[in-house]
Amino acid sequence: MADSDIQTYDYIVIGAGSAGSVVANRLSANPANRVLLLEAGPASHPWSRIPIGFAKLIDNPAANWCYSAEPEANTNGRKMPVPRGRLLGGSSSINGLVFVRGQARDFDTWAQMGNKGWTYTDVLPFFKSIESYEGGEDAYRGREGPLRVTDPDERGPLYDGLIEAAGQVGIPHNADYNGANQEGISLSQATIANGRRMSTAHCFLDPIRNRKNLTIETGAWSEALTLDGKRCTGVRYSIDGKPREARANREVVVSAGTINSPQLLELSGIGQPERLQSLGIEVRHALNGVGENLRDHYAPRTRWRIDAPGVTYNDKGSGLGLVKQALRYLFTNKGMLGIPAAPIRAFVRSRDGLEGPDVLLGWVPMLYEPGYKMSKIPGVTCYAHPMRPDSTGHIHITSADPRTPPAINFNFLSSSLDAEITIRAVRIARALMTAPAMAALQTSEIAPGAEKQSDEDILDWIKAVAETTYHPVGTCKMGPDPMAVVDEKLRVHGIEGLRVADASIMPTLTSGNTNAPSIMIGEKAANMVLNG
Ligand SMILES: Cc1cc2nc3c(=O)[nH]c(=O)nc-3n(C[C@H](O)[C@H](O)[C@H](O)COP(=O)(O)OP(=O)(O)OC[C@H]3O[C@@H](n4cnc5c(N)ncnc54)[C@H](O)[C@@H]3O)c2cc1C
Repeated sequence: MADSDIQTYDYIVIGAGSAGSVVANRLSANPANRVLLLEAGPASHPWSRIPIGFAKLIDNPAANWCYSAEPEANTNGRKMPVPRGRLLGGSSSINGLVFVRGQARDFDTWAQMGNKGWTYTDVLPFFKSIESYEGGEDAYRGREGPLRVTDPDERGPLYDGLIEAAGQVGIPHNADYNGANQEGISLSQATIANGRRMSTAHCFLDPIRNRKNLTIETGAWSEALTLDGKRCTGVRYSIDGKPREARANREVVVSAGTINSPQLLELSGIGQPERLQSLGIEVRHALNGVGENLRDHYAPRTRWRIDAPGVTYNDKGSGLGLVKQALRYLFTNKGMLGIPAAPIRAFVRSRDGLEGPDVLLGWVPMLYEPGYKMSKIPGVTCYAHPMRPDSTGHIHITSADPRTPPAINFNFLSSSLDAEITIRAVRIARALMTAPAMAALQTSEIAPGAEKQSDEDILDWIKAVAETTYHPVGTCKMGPDPMAVVDEKLRVHGIEGLRVADASIMPTLTSGNTNAPSIMIGEKAANMVLNG
């Protein structure tokens, strides 16, 4: 490519997802910084603004990379779907809209692993500056950030019944699980305002579209970083198959997410030398941790029939009910079309002696069949899983062609503790769903099924049905150890001018959903780029 065709910027951000949109916003706040933001997907999708659009986009290639994992023993050889957002806002534009920070100990653990500046006390200001939320206490919650976070206004017998049943099995109600203490059952806080999805595209990019120093290119697929020795100088990408190149005077920030960030590093010659050589890729920098340390939440969905009338959306949201819900949404922005994927959740302890909750239960207020299709049977779905699993897998390219999807191996339940806690999680879901307050709603178990009582039977069922809750992290791990990819400032070890800022840098999974911590990572990354 002729030099005259190559545009030069101060910063290039690759991937406009949860983290990348925030990075681009904050870096371009100073008009002196020229910033290029590259996004492989389109600018938007009509379903991404409406919360219920989650179910429409979960397997829709117009806005989703639609990856799938390799078959493995503990998924009974299934090719598990791995959805990832592929449009401005990234996965925040297609996700389940639930907003969970995690526990203070998650971040304290990262710091304890050698990452200075990542204790909860350190990251709390960044959690606060990204959000604007009306509840909770000022000490914990942000009031003026670009991201609107709200409590759902759905109430009714199902939510009342679950909260009462939780109390009957010793799980307290918690008004703000993103505050001082996560433990208990709560209505889910959501990235929804006025019935609309609050993606990072909407909250962090739409308001700054007129900045002259920010260039956003969509349909721009980054194929390799350009390197001059051990310095990253820019990126090669393509739009509509036409090759492009851009240079960064200062830094390139890779925010392509847990699947694509390690892929891009490997395509650029940064990774495990033997693997790269075997694919004919010139090794530019040996870094054995690239693509390793993959973690995700592997969650069985327990299924419950509820015969009391008017309790679930299978009742209230089908046939004429669906028309009513659509009209309600149209005129009030409320109802089934405007709620997060799992509007109520509980953070609980799997056993005595723990310092805090280690299991998440989340309820979808309807029974659904595979592919989020509403079942004809009225009921609810309750997923249950360990929040900080130990099992780790990996993601690696299998070809030098950027268009070939990388191979995703989760190694789910390779830690026996993960299997044990998942079984306990299913038993806790059972105890809660059969407590008197839920029994009063005429609740009966469909799956795993009352006949499955032994640990072995429950584990066999988990392996047959569990899926991820779409929270892959960790493949460009932050840390000081030889398998870490970035340091505590998110700089790629051994390469100048290159950082990774997205969910891939998490050394361990946070206790809950991963959008809020990914956005926090973007906010903190930008701060470190600008202020050292
Ligand atoms: C279906 C689903 C449901 C979820 N539900 C929830 C939930 O309810 N609550 C929650 O907290 N979390 C949820 N998550 C997880 C959460 O959304 C993610 O953890 C978070 O968005 C990850 O942010 P990120 O910045 O790491 O990556 P992403 O937001 O995925 O951003 C990566 C971006 O980079 C782009 N990109 C990738 N490769 C390239 C390339 N080569 N060139 C250019 N651009 C590229 C992608 O298209 C994408 O826009 C869900 C995720 C999914 C997929």
